[in-house]
Amino acid sequence: MVKKSWTDDELLHYITTEDSAEAKELFAAARKTCEEHYGRDIYFRCLIEFTNYCKNDCFYCGIRCSNTQTERYRLSFEQILECCRTGNTLGFRTFVLQGGEDPWFTDELLCELVHKIHTEFPDNAITVSAGERSRTCYKALFDAGANRYLLRHESVDNDHYAALHPPAMLLSERKKCLKTLKEIGFQTGAGFMVGTPFQTPNCLLADLRFLQELQPHMVGIGPFIPAANTPFAHYPAGSVAVTLRMVSLTRLLLPRVLLPATTALGTLSDVGREQSLMAGANVIMPNLSPPGARERYSIYDNKFNYNDEVGDYVSDLLRRVTKAGFVPKMGARGDAKV
Ligand code: SAH
Repeated sequence: MVKKSWTDDELLHYITTEDSAEAKELFAAARKTCEEHYGRDIYFRCLIEFTNYCKNDCFYCGIRCSNTQTERYRLSFEQILECCRTGNTLGFRTFVLQGGEDPWFTDELLCELVHKIHTEFPDNAITVSAGERSRTCYKALFDAGANRYLLRHESVDNDHYAALHPPAMLLSERKKCLKTLKEIGFQTGAGFMVGTPFQTPNCLLADLRFLQELQPHMVGIGPFIPAANTPFAHYPAGSVAVTLRMVSLTRLLLPRVLLPATTALGTLSDVGREQSLMAGANVIMPNLSPPGARERYSIYDNKFNYNDEVGDYVSDLLRRVTKAGFVPKMGARGDAKV
């Protein structure tokens, strides 16, 4: 199963297989491939959801601008730095600033924020996930100290992309941003949801082929989960099994990629994240946003959350990862091995 090249038919076969023995073999091959490059090490990222204001209107997303039911929030620089301090003390060496496309954060403000974090934590990696921005902005963020950028392509099939987004959002623009980010020198993350309305196996095949072409450093893959008060509120959630197979296929096609076991998987299944590690993922991104923000960054319904003190939550997570037979590498930046 570990092979140099895959035909479309072979990929489609594993995207759609309902044979659980075959799926198991796929997971094992992906895990083995991961271990050739990363061993059983799992990297941790401190996720900070810094704003849920968004100017976009993606049909699937709970924080889309036309959802008037969403209570909006925006963390202050001091609140964000406080999350970084907590994360750093707990041993995280990567901060991920994720948010809606919030125009309040002008290029200048976003760069100032990155610069402040970089100055206080010069040894930590900074990842930004703030959507589509200009090349000038991306370059300025990079120069201010950001190392990585996450921008899921969501779907690389033109018609499917158009079925998930309003006409103002263009797949061509998304692809251009990803290319620009790579050119600037960011460790770049693409990715997609599994099971969004109107998605076909051929869409998923196209997503895999796109990843092969782009060669991103990171790929986020999670199941679609319906969000209240959105056009897709009444569509069914994506399948955990298909998501896991897509994680494995991505690992086999891009052996050195960093693959998170996503919160969305953890939301649909109690053991979703452990299963994802078993299927070839090697990153976990615990949410260190302050209580209040965590509940309100409601991109989908029933998003996994915790009420414990954050230190307890993180040590519980580390225990779970160890119990599943992995080695949590707190204290490591966990850069991609390209
Ligand atoms: N504005 C940023 C961050 C978006 S939130 C950006 O555009 O990159 C991060 C990811 O959550 C999105 O890229 C999307 O793939 C995922 N997401 C949004 N709504 C979702 C839903 N209903 N179910 C599952 N994942 C969702």
